[in-house]
Amino acid sequence: MGDNVHATTFLDEVASLPACDKINECIQCGVCSGSCTTATHWEYTPRKVISLVRAGMKDELLKSNSIWFCVSCYLCTARCPRDIKPANIMHGLESIALKEGYKPPTKTTTMYRTFTDSIINNGRVYEFGFMFQYYLKTNPFAAIKMIPMALSLLTHKRMPLLAKKVKGTAELKTIINKLSAGGGR
Ligand code: SF4
Ligand code: SF4
Repeated sequence: MGDNVHATTFLDEVASLPACDKINECIQCGVCSGSCTTATHWEYTPRKVISLVRAGMKDELLKSNSIWFCVSCYLCTARCPRDIKPANIMHGLESIALKEGYKPPTKTTTMYRTFTDSIINNGRVYEFGFMFQYYLKTNPFAAIKMIPMALSLLTHKRMPLLAKKVKGTAELKTIINKLSAGGGR
């Protein structure tokens, strides 16, 4: 005798993420892959990523380098004939992968985290501090090559040396902490 207990599938998990609910309406036309600015680097193109989610091949997908090369250009999302929003799906998959301990093959998450830390601390991006922290965490030697550009930006007052904080950063931190409690950053 069967029971009515509904096991949550990988597809259910992804479809429950913000703006990912139409994933099962994908017609596999490949417009997203053909439009994607970085797909040549992906082990599985955006169309295949969606196909793997639907096939329940979670581990195979999250172990691959796909999703991490998404640069949020949103061409896939603008052109998808079924309004699937593949970019949201890629970022949702990143969130699942991080929560489940998969190691990203790129520095993207370090950049995102450094970027959001800068906003949390200052209420806006503090470019100099953001870049300094990012290179410190990833490749301090690469920062040396950036020194002439940084000096030029500072000299021409295109980048402030010190952070200009907005008012209410404590309240902003409280809001972000509450939002983060509901999901991964
Ligand atoms: S463009 Fe949209 S419908 Fe076509 S394969 Fe990509 S997600 Fe699916
Ligand atoms: S948003 Fe991401 S998945 Fe979509 S086209 Fe751009 S890089 Fe590719």
